[in-house]
Amino acid sequence: MTIQCDIAQLGAKVLRQKAQPVDDVHSEDVRQIIESMQATLASTQGVGLAAPQISIGKRIIIVASRPTPRYPLAPLMAPTVMINPEFQPLSETKEKDWEGCLSIPGIRALVPRYKDILVQYTDTQDCLQETRLEGFVARVFQHEADHLDGKVYLDRVVTNEDIIAESEYLKKF
Ligand code: ZN
Repeated sequence: MTIQCDIAQLGAKVLRQKAQPVDDVHSEDVRQIIESMQATLASTQGVGLAAPQISIGKRIIIVASRPTPRYPLAPLMAPTVMINPEFQPLSETKEKDWEGCLSIPGIRALVPRYKDILVQYTDTQDCLQETRLEGFVARVFQHEADHLDGKVYLDRVVTNEDIIAESEYLKKF
């Protein structure tokens, strides 16, 4: 049975609330949330998803960089489920690049993000993982991690001039 969910849209309260840590990775509840997130993300052209985007206030994200019509230049990686994720920047350098969000359709914006980060999370086997992420994948991680703290990418935009229509963004490729 499934499991594909509607994506919460900007204005939904859940997108502005701090998500709660997951205690028991092996619980049926958490297993089902992850399945729903995987099915929901697979049905879109997104490269990441956070549980609040399917209206679940839990600290779970999926990072799934892949080239799609939405992100033609994205590197390909296996979709990775990250539970209770955290990160530290490895350098203070931030880089502006384009982001969009399934919860905010129709627009794109340039967002400054750390280029090089060290990430910790619990995986679906309940093992603690630590890995270094760079560039676009680091960007996706920071975007999704923000969702767990009730933030969206527009909160990080430096100037409104960096916000454009998706139809204009697509002309760039
Ligand atoms: Zn988003």
